[in-house]
Amino acid sequence: MSSMEGDFSGERPRGPEHPGICDAAEFVDRDAIEAQAWGLIANRESLNDVEVAQQERRDNARTALWEGLTKSGHLSRIEIHGTFEEINAQVLSRLLRGWSDRLPEAEKRRRFPEICEELTIQAVQKAIVADELPESTAVALASDFPEDMPEKSARNLGYRPDNKKGMVRSTHLVAHPDGTYTRIIEQMSRSNGTWRSTFGFLKAAGITPMHRETADVTALATPFLYSVQDYTNGVVDIQKRLDQHAGPNIRYGEIIGANPLHVNYDQVRQESMAREKQAEKLLDGIAAYEEKLDALVAQGLIEQRQRDSQYGKKILHTLRAICTMAPEYAADCFGQKAATYYQRASDAVLTGDFDRAQRIISDARQHEEVVVICGASLSDEEEAELGLGLDSMANNLKNTKELWGWKAGICRVMSCATRPGQTEVGPCSVCRKCQAKFDKGQDPTKLTTRPKPKAPATIELIKPKIVEPEPMPLAA
Ligand SMILES: [Zn+2]
Repeated sequence: MSSMEGDFSGERPRGPEHPGICDAAEFVDRDAIEAQAWGLIANRESLNDVEVAQQERRDNARTALWEGLTKSGHLSRIEIHGTFEEINAQVLSRLLRGWSDRLPEAEKRRRFPEICEELTIQAVQKAIVADELPESTAVALASDFPEDMPEKSARNLGYRPDNKKGMVRSTHLVAHPDGTYTRIIEQMSRSNGTWRSTFGFLKAAGITPMHRETADVTALATPFLYSVQDYTNGVVDIQKRLDQHAGPNIRYGEIIGANPLHVNYDQVRQESMAREKQAEKLLDGIAAYEEKLDALVAQGLIEQRQRDSQYGKKILHTLRAICTMAPEYAADCFGQKAATYYQRASDAVLTGDFDRAQRIISDARQHEEVVVICGASLSDEEEAELGLGLDSMANNLKNTKELWGWKAGICRVMSCATRPGQTEVGPCSVCRKCQAKFDKGQDPTKLTTRPKPKAPATIELIKPKIVEPEPMPLAA
């Protein structure tokens, strides 16, 4: 990779602050890439449809869930395995399927550079396979929040104006001895993902972006290269640098300490993997649902937009169950106000009262900030007729509880002996010991308040949500 040293005039005496990071346009002919992208879009109907792999459906489900659950500071990783051609065909086919002439112009302006990003990745990786670039070369890109879009449209398209959620993603290739490859795509979410930090970072790396319609489109049209040998923590190292350009005391775009879900840079990859693993068994159900939807579209029984909205509905249904299993996500996912309901729903599930949990979640709806758009939904009758009906929330919670995994965390029962240390926590974020007590019909929060009958009531405050102001008014 060419060094950027010495490319600067006197106004930048320190030279590049991010050595080894350079504009992808130095290696790839941007005009040719854009021409190729327009050609693919124009001819997308005649392209061979690549069958959607099961792994891709699971990836879609995982991405949709974690996009919803966390606002920032989460790293998602996708691995695609196959021959070089298979991997490229799979990703390109997904991007082209996502293109529609009916997309809002502002969204098309973003989708186009995303297709160019993929063609850039393919060109760079072709050079790697041909030994013209080192295998450690990664292609990265800041996908910023579309600040120029009206807030409502942004929300409808799945962006999050509340924290100006942005992403930085990085892609690299690992070669295997049998001639196959694994493409590794890592994406890091951040708050205040805008040009303010992105352009500062690019400039400090010696990259001058070519200005496009809007700042976010400019960032999307400026993929850059780095080496995973220089930046061994990959996308996390890039995120760290973006944070440096966002101001002092900033991590994942927020003031350090402000978000309880955040862990430090060195832990974020591992922690994110552990989070995703906990929900891993939920992915097959969503993947199967998506497959069913796609089959109905192929048969002409539903439209694409109904498919999308129905998929969103399934995701939302699952997010509600997850926020009950792990109420620590509810504030990021549904907002602070709804989060208190999810704490209570989780308490209800702990005692095995799924029907009460269902009622609480139903009450929570009016306080939920929208995370998934389900516009052109089918009616209940249509759903039933097409076999797309969703489980009742009580059953959904029951199933999710069975599928929910364990991970290191802090037991939610305030009186638990393991607190404030870490232990293994499972459904409803409680440890195995506490769960066993709940299963026996005991309530460990009440057990600890037993010994001193005349003790001051303050100890009750350790679990305020169980001392409940029931019943909550049911939605009419
Ligand atoms: Zn416990």
